[in-house]
Amino acid sequence: MAPFPGSGLAKGLAVTLRTMTKKTVTEQYPDVQPDLPPRTRGVIGLFEENCTVCMLCARECPDWCIYIDSHKETVPAATPGGRERSRNVLDRFAIDFSLCMYCGICIEVCPFDALFWSPEFEYAETDIRDLTHERDKLREWMWTVPAPPALDPGAEEPKELAAARRTAEKLAAQQQPPATEPHADEQARAAERPTRPQGDSKQQTDQPRPPQEGTE
Ligand code: SF4
Ligand code: SF4
Repeated sequence: MAPFPGSGLAKGLAVTLRTMTKKTVTEQYPDVQPDLPPRTRGVIGLFEENCTVCMLCARECPDWCIYIDSHKETVPAATPGGRERSRNVLDRFAIDFSLCMYCGICIEVCPFDALFWSPEFEYAETDIRDLTHERDKLREWMWTVPAPPALDPGAEEPKELAAARRTAEKLAAQQQPPATEPHADEQARAAERPTRPQGDSKQQTDQPRPPQEGTE
């Protein structure tokens, strides 16, 4: 059956009237910043000091968009007669955010807490090559990572915090000046002070005296 003439226009007007009375859902970005959850997956920050170059994140990334270069270094023995050790030194750590699909696997698998989500998302580029963030840029994102939530009351102190606190206490103790020796002038004055004659000493007067002749 042929549609009634003008039915399409009536339907369109009906849709317009219906949506006119509803609250708009359009985000007015960039004039208005979106109200995102604090743990939004915006960008990945690298805490380089924790990275041991174990390569787990690069191996597990489904997009193969983490690039890591490193070399080995020999660390001398810590004690005489001890053995030298070798350790990995990071040369390059980069993430290509034009390939990243924000799955978070790299952050989950990192055994040393070196990768974190930051809610920052405003890093669009006009050149796709600039979406590969090298280690310096990844480190800068760390400043935007939200602090972890507070511990429950009575919870055990995390071992990382306990170790950091002990190190800070040790450093503070090392920086304190040593207990001061008496000043030279003070020592000289103490030497000049008159001393009690030996015979007057209380210790001697309190000692039992030998019996005198003729007193028994
Ligand atoms: S979030 Fe996923 S895709 Fe992106 S770098 Fe990490 S593992 Fe790779
Ligand atoms: S998994 Fe963590 S420690 Fe290992 S290379 Fe990746 S960031 Fe570094």
